Amino acid sequence: MSLAQKLAEERRARLAAERLLELKQAELFAANQTLGRHARALSEEIVETRAQVESIRNEAQQVRSDLTVAHQKVEIAERRLWHSIETIQDGFAFFDVDSHLIAANHAYLAVFDGLEEIAPGVSYARILQLMTEEGIVNIGDYAPANWRAMMQKRWETPSPPPIVVRLWNDTYIKLIDQRGHGGDVVSLALDITETVRYEKELKEARAKAEAASRAKSAFLANMSHEIRTPMNGVVGMAELLSDTPLSQEQQLYVQTIKSSGEALLVIINDVLDYSKIEAKKLELHPEPFDLERCIHEIVMLLQPLARDKNIDLLVDYDLFLPTMFIGDPGRIRQVLTNLLGNAVKFTQEGHVLVRVVGVQPGESLDTHVHVTIEDTGIGIPADKVEHIFGEFNQVEDERNRKFEGTGLGLAITQRLIDLMQGSIWVDSEEGVGSAFGFRITLPATDAIDAAPVLPEKLKKAMVVDDLSVNREILAKQMAILGIETQVCASGAEALDMLDDSFDVVLTDHNMPEMDGIELSRAIRDRGSQVPILLFSSNSTYAEMNRGRAFVQAIMQKPIPRRDLFARLQALGADIDAPDPEKTSAAPPTDARLMRVLAAEDNRTNQLVFRKMVKDARIDLSFANDGAEALALYQSMKPDVVFMDISMPGMDGKEATRKIRELEADSGGHVPIIAMTAHAMEGDGEGILAAGLDFYLTKPLRKSAILEALVRHRPPAAQAPVSEADQAASAT
Ligand code: ADP
Repeated sequence: MSLAQKLAEERRARLAAERLLELKQAELFAANQTLGRHARALSEEIVETRAQVESIRNEAQQVRSDLTVAHQKVEIAERRLWHSIETIQDGFAFFDVDSHLIAANHAYLAVFDGLEEIAPGVSYARILQLMTEEGIVNIGDYAPANWRAMMQKRWETPSPPPIVVRLWNDTYIKLIDQRGHGGDVVSLALDITETVRYEKELKEARAKAEAASRAKSAFLANMSHEIRTPMNGVVGMAELLSDTPLSQEQQLYVQTIKSSGEALLVIINDVLDYSKIEAKKLELHPEPFDLERCIHEIVMLLQPLARDKNIDLLVDYDLFLPTMFIGDPGRIRQVLTNLLGNAVKFTQEGHVLVRVVGVQPGESLDTHVHVTIEDTGIGIPADKVEHIFGEFNQVEDERNRKFEGTGLGLAITQRLIDLMQGSIWVDSEEGVGSAFGFRITLPATDAIDAAPVLPEKLKKAMVVDDLSVNREILAKQMAILGIETQVCASGAEALDMLDDSFDVVLTDHNMPEMDGIELSRAIRDRGSQVPILLFSSNSTYAEMNRGRAFVQAIMQKPIPRRDLFARLQALGADIDAPDPEKTSAAPPTDARLMRVLAAEDNRTNQLVFRKMVKDARIDLSFANDGAEALALYQSMKPDVVFMDISMPGMDGKEATRKIRELEADSGGHVPIIAMTAHAMEGDGEGILAAGLDFYLTKPLRKSAILEALVRHRPPAAQAPVSEADQAASAT
């Protein structure tokens, strides 16, 4: 081969090599570039990851330091808590769900006096066992096993009741255990030794105080009884003395002795009642009683006083209201006597009106009874109205000071009404009058009384009274009976109105200008035979006798509605033959004397009784005690018995009970009238429950005894007292 060829070939080879090189270089470049990109991406990734690692590391650092702070806080709190728990004087422990001790403070552990076993992990059952075995607890009458069983049983209840345990050294620990979440129990052991000691002291002090109060009540009761007995003698003798011939001056002295004695008795009774209420010794003794009769009896008692002051005493008893209720008659009587007594005392002119209304809600016999006592008296200043119900409180001013009284009446009244779960109020205007009202709920014993059946002839009545309240009450009562009524305010008006159409005239006695008797006489003078009923509160019987010639009946005001109805019913018979004498049923003069037995242990009181009935035509025997009374009852067969309640040996109630037992076999029923030293004395024992029919309150009054004799005279016996005598003793 030529050189040229060789050169050409060489050149071609070099070219080819150069191209290959170029190619490889390009490839290398591309590969380099890719590598460079990868390297960049990688390093970016590394930077990012490193940043992340850094931030996570920071966060972890933060969390770690937070945790440390939290731990520290928890530690501090725990330390403080334990510190507090350790500082408290009372024991504190907690147990896990399996009743193993988790921890307890010193006070808790101190009780166990260094027993090493009492440490975290010990079981509650073991603690109980150690307590009994080591004599830590005073288990009293329990056997150790029983005590532990009782404690364990209590521990296992979902919420164990607190319990007091007594330790060997007379420390009292109250255990309060509380079950928490997951069954853990927190146990508190409070040292209540001081409280127990204090309670014991208080109990002892209370027992002492109660004993003292009982002693005081007993002393008061005894003392007032002891004072009352001689006072009865003083008052009774003064009354008898005033019946003997005396000079005017002597009469004044005697009256003063009598009224002072009576005033003293009232005070003693008030104080006794008040102390009884205070000592919570006063109990109510409900029994069936007639409310209307009770009111009328009180009104009758106050009548003489009202008559002297010339004020009218009126009763307006709701006609639709039953009269028989179950309540404590003695206490209701006391309330009414206080309120009515005050009304009469503080009224100089006008009237005192007792209004009784009632509602029976629903089917039951329970009746809300409202009683109001209105007067036209001096009234009470508005700023004193609240004050008067307080003890010993009176409206203190010039006018009031002239009235007697202890200022206890209303305080007692209010407490009695409270005791009966009722309410009392007063409404008063100074110088105009007062209205005291009270409401009590009493069960009625029967349904509403049916209106009486009246004689056919009674269709139209004339009511004559100068007092409008009275006219209103009577007209209302007549309307209920279906009788048409014409009311007249005076005798003259009545005479004007009167014609043949009237079937009965009801007239008041005491009216200005023409009184009831004059009116009756005028009616008879006209030749009219219309039946006339005269209502009187202020006439002696002698005066009344003057009226008897003209009227069919004279009735004591205010008239219980039963009596009025009975009288109107009876008129049916009288209308045809209006002969008043016919009704007086005089007993034959040769009849036997009325037999009266009086049981009374006190000689002075026997003497007083004997003197009071000295003019009565009776056959009187005395018994010195209950046993004698019983014997005399059998031998003399009395027509009436007066029975003292407190007598030595067999007392009045016991004797009465025995008499009633005898009567159960032999038949008959002798009226037995209790003589009590205090209207309320029978409250504890129930005088009426013992079989006594009525009671008289000491000091005995001649009029009351004579009235009782007249009332209980059997038809076969002579009249014990003439009407004139009775009238004279009533004045
Ligand atoms: P006492 O009547 O023994 O003073 P009370 O407690 O019964 O005691 O009455 C307290 C006072 O209330 C009376 O003193 C009197 O001032 C006043 N008071 C009571 N009832 C009336 C009344 N009906 N009218 C005017 N004042 C009355």
